[in-house]
Amino acid sequence: MTVTGIIERTSYIDGHWIEPGERNIKEHYSPLDTERLVGRSIQLTASDVDAAVQGARRELPRWSGLAGMERASFLFKAAQLLEERKEELAQLLTLEMGKPIGEARGEVQRAVLLFRYYAGEGMRGIGEVLPASDGVSQLYTTRVPLGVVGLITPWNFPAAIPVWKLAPAIIFGNTVVWKPAEHAVITAARLMQLLEESGLPPGVVQLVSGSGSVVGQRLLEHPQVTGISFTGSDMVGREVARQASARHAKYQLEMGGKNSTIVLADADLERAADTIISAAMRSAGQKCTATSRVIVEKPVRERLTSLLVEKADSIKLSNPQEEDCYLGPVVSKGQYESILESIERGLQEGARVLAGGRARTEGDFARGYYIEPTVFDRVEPQSYLAQEEVFGPVLAIMEAGDLDHALELANGVRYGLAASVFTNSQKQAQRFINGIEAGLVKVNGETAGVELQAPFGGMKLSSSYSREQGRAAIEFFTQVKTVLVTP
Ligand code: NAP
Ligand code: MG
Repeated sequence: MTVTGIIERTSYIDGHWIEPGERNIKEHYSPLDTERLVGRSIQLTASDVDAAVQGARRELPRWSGLAGMERASFLFKAAQLLEERKEELAQLLTLEMGKPIGEARGEVQRAVLLFRYYAGEGMRGIGEVLPASDGVSQLYTTRVPLGVVGLITPWNFPAAIPVWKLAPAIIFGNTVVWKPAEHAVITAARLMQLLEESGLPPGVVQLVSGSGSVVGQRLLEHPQVTGISFTGSDMVGREVARQASARHAKYQLEMGGKNSTIVLADADLERAADTIISAAMRSAGQKCTATSRVIVEKPVRERLTSLLVEKADSIKLSNPQEEDCYLGPVVSKGQYESILESIERGLQEGARVLAGGRARTEGDFARGYYIEPTVFDRVEPQSYLAQEEVFGPVLAIMEAGDLDHALELANGVRYGLAASVFTNSQKQAQRFINGIEAGLVKVNGETAGVELQAPFGGMKLSSSYSREQGRAAIEFFTQVKTVLVTP
């Protein structure tokens, strides 16, 4: 199936699509072929965002007054439509941001499941009953929506991340203004069309396309936006926190990572190497949970290193639309240059490239942003490659004397999103689980990959001490009302 039809209407406010007309328009080209136009987006202004917030405010009393079960019916419908259009959406997602088609399908399927999971939340308990001190009154808690919430999403999971914010926001009775990332705005518009088709009443969700510094910024400062849920970079996340707290709005941040996998001497090295390469290279390393450091116990360093290099070298870089693509292009010129600069910087700091290390520009690669799967060793703990998020297909190998040393290296960064260990010792695994500073911890598994029914988020600078997905979402998207009824 090929994607036809270029989406030009990318903003939806109060039940109406904004017409491009005389507005500022941005063209979006594909990272797999920079001459191929994916779509055009409308660059809204701050006053358009005000109109979107007004639409959300107008609908709020009616939407929040519906029974959870009624709200759930729209999510079930959205899940069904998305499942029917899964292939089309996956193809569009791949064309727009370059993720291999197999992974894009998996992501869209995850979005389907997220809609269903949160539809179910509309029928589950939302409070507790407590014994009142007078022995006769009814004392209980209930949960009410925050109000109008702003969702600011990144480009690396164009379907799953928006849905894991949208679905809980609306099932718990909030209305939404959603600002998608520039490099995922066309997929966002297609998702919004499906939400509209699901019969969602006007005003429940508004999609506002445009730049982060104008459209995103207005959401941060708008006095009637009660909460902001943000996923993206550390730098923008700080601004979200600063501006939201200045006006006492609730906020939730999911940001970067510098995720480690520790490999102990007793591990199954073959399995560890396969898993690490998958976690480092799939989606071209552009997952916030991607493995970017391998910390290996000295006795098995050489053997693991040669396995990692062999596996990295055997990865075929290809067009992400090919069925068997493992590694495709990175998302944008900006990312491409920044990853290549990080590789250069690693070399300057004395690290050694064992695999890859270069851009690929021959033949069909010439028009896309392709970078070889790259493996470094001799990476110093305080160096750029060991400390900074590269967000590309780049893996750094470091050596540790024992588990304590490995934990010290793994924890010696400002992030704390995901981490894993490979070992056959339950005792060592438990010491790792206790000692690692990360919000998502795995034993004999990939740092990447989350279960939608479980809480997700990081420690330290990876998050703001809040969690998304699973039942954790209720904590952000609702507030507690305590009720005492005396007869
Ligand atoms: P980004 O530059 O921070 O952008 C994220 C979102 O914020 C985009 O929608 C962006 O809009 C918007 N934005 C930019 N400047 C803004 C401003 N001044 N005010 C309000 N909004 C603004 O991040 P990205 O480049 O899209 O994504 C890559 C980063 O996200 C990586 O660091 C990665 O680790 C992190 N990430 C984390 C997770 C997680 O769950 N922990 C998941 C995915 C990604 P524009 O696109 O229009 O600029
Ligand atoms: Mg950005």
